[in-house]
Amino acid sequence: MIQQLKNGKLIIAGAGPGDPELITMKVVKYLQQADIVLTDRLVSEEILKSHVHPAAEIMYVGKQCRRGISTPQQTINELIVHYCLLGKLVVRLKGGDVSIFSNIMDELETVIANKIPYEIIPGVTAALGAAAYAGIPLTARGYSTSVRFLTYYKSDIVTDVYWKELANTDDTLVFYMSSETLDGVVEKLTLNNIHEDKLLAIVEQATTPFQNVHIVNLYDYQKKLKGRSFISPSLVIIGKVVAFHEQFAWLTNSDNNENYFKSMISPAANFNNPEKLHKNVSWK
Ligand code: SAH
Repeated sequence: MIQQLKNGKLIIAGAGPGDPELITMKVVKYLQQADIVLTDRLVSEEILKSHVHPAAEIMYVGKQCRRGISTPQQTINELIVHYCLLGKLVVRLKGGDVSIFSNIMDELETVIANKIPYEIIPGVTAALGAAAYAGIPLTARGYSTSVRFLTYYKSDIVTDVYWKELANTDDTLVFYMSSETLDGVVEKLTLNNIHEDKLLAIVEQATTPFQNVHIVNLYDYQKKLKGRSFISPSLVIIGKVVAFHEQFAWLTNSDNNENYFKSMISPAANFNNPEKLHKNVSWK
């Protein structure tokens, strides 16, 4: 059994949605001090290059479901425990914010079970990054008094009763991880008679140099966008406030189809030996 050293600690930190300058000073400070950085795929490479100490070890433990590649949560937990008990400062870097659609619970339970000290540092979540960089005020006065962060990555996670409620509310709806199921989202909302003043925005690669925004009326979606695939990551915003994009957009579409975030080409999936893990994960 390894003796726990005094300074072993886990920092669970949000890196922001893409633009490397959207990271907080506190996360930068910890990246400069870290011995080990366990990073998600949706973290700008620029952040790692600029702030992580050259002697530190960077391990890619991302999930890329579309390609069937992912590091099991168990492996990530084992890495955290392994290095923290060796007395290392470990930063677990996540895209966007740490508590929005992320596995923070598993990691927190792991550190608590192992009596490892930790801190949680927020980041700019994709919804806020996309809204700002697309000129969409999410709660514009007189249009919407609330925002909902949702996901529809599987068809059974939103009930029919809730779809009705979502179609009728004036709240702005933001769907994460749902660009592949967008046809279903639009179908459910139009079947429940969503008002035609509400528009839909798909923001591809928000806040990156390759950002593209597509705006459509939900009732025209079928004609204009149905079946189209969007570049990952993409975020969906629905509501009356989406119309403000036309007035307030300050970035033009890049019209570039390149991927800003690198793809993982080799899974870390089968490695449960932390010492070997990083040598078996690489990037394109
Ligand atoms: N914790 C992250 C969300 C992780 S879920 C956060 O707070 O932002 C991953 C989903 O987030 C993606 O499928 C996509 O819907 C959204 N996302 C993350 N980064 C994005 C970006 N730069 N542009 C558009 N959507 C993004």
